[in-house]
Amino acid sequence: MTGRPITVLRLGEVFLKGRNRSWFLKKLVDNAKRISPNIQLRHSRIICTDPVPPEEFTRLFGITSISPAREISQNLDEAADAAVELLSDLRPESFKVEAVRSDKSFPVKSPDIARQVGGEIAERTGLRVDVHDPHTVVLVEIGRELSFVSAGRIPGPGGLPVGVSGRGILLLSGGIDSPVAGSMMLKRGMDVVPLCFHAPPYTDDRLVEKLTSLARRLHDWGGSDTMYLANFTEVQKILRYLSPGKLTIIRYRRMMMRVASLLAERLRAQTIITGESLGQVASQTIQNMTAIEDAARLPVMRPLIGLDKEEIIKRAKKLGSYEISIIPQEDTCTLFAPPSPETKAKLEVVEKSESSVDVWDMARSLVDSLEEVHL
Ligand code: ATP
Ligand code: MG
Repeated sequence: MTGRPITVLRLGEVFLKGRNRSWFLKKLVDNAKRISPNIQLRHSRIICTDPVPPEEFTRLFGITSISPAREISQNLDEAADAAVELLSDLRPESFKVEAVRSDKSFPVKSPDIARQVGGEIAERTGLRVDVHDPHTVVLVEIGRELSFVSAGRIPGPGGLPVGVSGRGILLLSGGIDSPVAGSMMLKRGMDVVPLCFHAPPYTDDRLVEKLTSLARRLHDWGGSDTMYLANFTEVQKILRYLSPGKLTIIRYRRMMMRVASLLAERLRAQTIITGESLGQVASQTIQNMTAIEDAARLPVMRPLIGLDKEEIIKRAKKLGSYEISIIPQEDTCTLFAPPSPETKAKLEVVEKSESSVDVWDMARSLVDSLEEVHL
């Protein structure tokens, strides 16, 4: 094999953020180092000098494309050898060579590097050169500290590096929607911390396993390495006996908002994220969402609000959560729920129905007894 296998990562939007640029890059490099420790920032690219499979970086937000590459010395024969080897894996219909001479003391100029290496590749492989619409681009970079050849591009996930857009508490249920909502905020650079409610013994250990698997999937994309689990059983029992019964689910959701708000204070998070989508089910009306959000101390983000179920499912499949979400499991919120829940909750009525109990005291005791699950 010619040269050491390395990986070249290209950055997207990160570069457009003038003032924040260096901070964004630092976050991106730190996040990449969780995948592999040997990460260098070089000009407008990140280079991983460990021989990890390039696919490892396909879940790193902030990266627009990934190329397998070989580290070479400042030698064009070596460049051609490495390119021929890389292309033999890809078998493209056509190719072109682009060259970057970042070490200006190298005697061959960029267009001549491209011509020379391209000619050599064409002769040895019989591949067609197409400078206008090549199937694969071969990049030869001759630098002072590092020279390399890369071929082909795997698309990266785009977005912003996780950590540059603050922190949000994700209300994560076992359904299809909330993991997708979390991944959309991760993509915008938010650090996402899952908070789940369960109700043992009415929900069993399999629900916790399912929630843990979903939170792990988010962790694979840069989400938090800790998930918080609230035991909701006793509080649910109290909330369900308050009347009217058709507001039971609204009271549950409002309690989730309070617990999320208190957890956010502790973790210095700035927002709460849910998987709600307007009109997806009879209860997801603007009136209900308004009554639920009223209990939150922080803004609530609903990234799925305008998406259809099919679009959400497509995203869930890409995220890798879909197969986990569709495992049938008892849902905490439907426990002790009335047969005909409210669809147009009025805030005054909801508040009145909670007035006989100290809701914040309940929320505090829930937050004090949260279980931390390390993913
Ligand atoms: P999902 O597919 O995410 O469960 P859904 O369409 O089933 O969503 P609902 O059951 O109405 O919707 O729940 C709305 C949102 O409330 C969820 O997306 C989630 O953010 C939050 N939520 C519901 N149940 C729980 C729970 N047990 N723990 C944490 N959050 C929950
Ligand atoms: Mg649900």
